Amino acid sequence: MSDSVRRIQVRSCEIGGPELVVMAGPCAIESRAQIFQAAEVVAASGARFLRGGAFKVRTSPTAFQGLGWDGWALLREAADAFGLLTVSEILNEDQIDRARRYVDLAQIGSRNMQNIPLLKALGRSRMPVLLKRGFGCTIDEWVHGAEYILAEGNQDVVMCERGIRTFETATRFTLDVAAVPIAKKRLGLPVIVDPSHAAGQRDWVESLTLSGVACGGDGLLIETHPNPAEAKSDGPQAVVLGEFGALMEKARRVAEAVGRSIPVGAPLAVAVSR
Ligand code: PEP
Ligand code: MN
Repeated sequence: MSDSVRRIQVRSCEIGGPELVVMAGPCAIESRAQIFQAAEVVAASGARFLRGGAFKVRTSPTAFQGLGWDGWALLREAADAFGLLTVSEILNEDQIDRARRYVDLAQIGSRNMQNIPLLKALGRSRMPVLLKRGFGCTIDEWVHGAEYILAEGNQDVVMCERGIRTFETATRFTLDVAAVPIAKKRLGLPVIVDPSHAAGQRDWVESLTLSGVACGGDGLLIETHPNPAEAKSDGPQAVVLGEFGALMEKARRVAEAVGRSIPVGAPLAVAVSR
């Protein structure tokens, strides 16, 4: 299965090869201490990317909206300190040029999956893109979203299944595991899985993580926080940072069962160049 998709190179990291690429960190960058703690632990657990939102698209306008440009500077600094790459959501075309300094993989959020001007602008930018599935969108619509980016000449597109809205309310969204092999086949692009936004509660994140590996996901995007009770965004679904390494151990065993691998991490507190 790993040979059936185009391999996307993001700086030193290949997505879509035999190794699964783990992207992890908090929902939102909140402080220097928080993002550095997250970076240290996720790097030590085998993640290649540090995630963290600086410009948050929240359901409510009164919810925490992120640290903006200062957040991106902290994300870059923390990632560089631990040899990680960065993935973060870009909201609009005006942010793209300045974002290149901070963001290695430009995330298009679920709510923007059909923002056609943004898809085209990132297509023209040639930044590697992570296209999340709109939670109200079919696989077909998601595939067409990717085609807007590809049509502008940017072939560096990674897809992300993050759950869709169904009649089920016990989880925040319903992880559509079938979408992973289907989107891979339709586009020939890597597809990663975000168990966190699908689960909505940390109790279900482990099962969905393992499912995401088993169904052929080329990577994982997982929210983790040093102190989820104090998190300013998506705390209930954040894996406790101290438990992240154990989750990766389990994911590693499933990866091996399906002929893939997840690298072991760099030793704690050793900074390496990216
Ligand atoms: C996120 O990754 O924090 C996020 C907002 O995800 P989504 O766009 O899938 O809701
Ligand atoms: Mn989130």
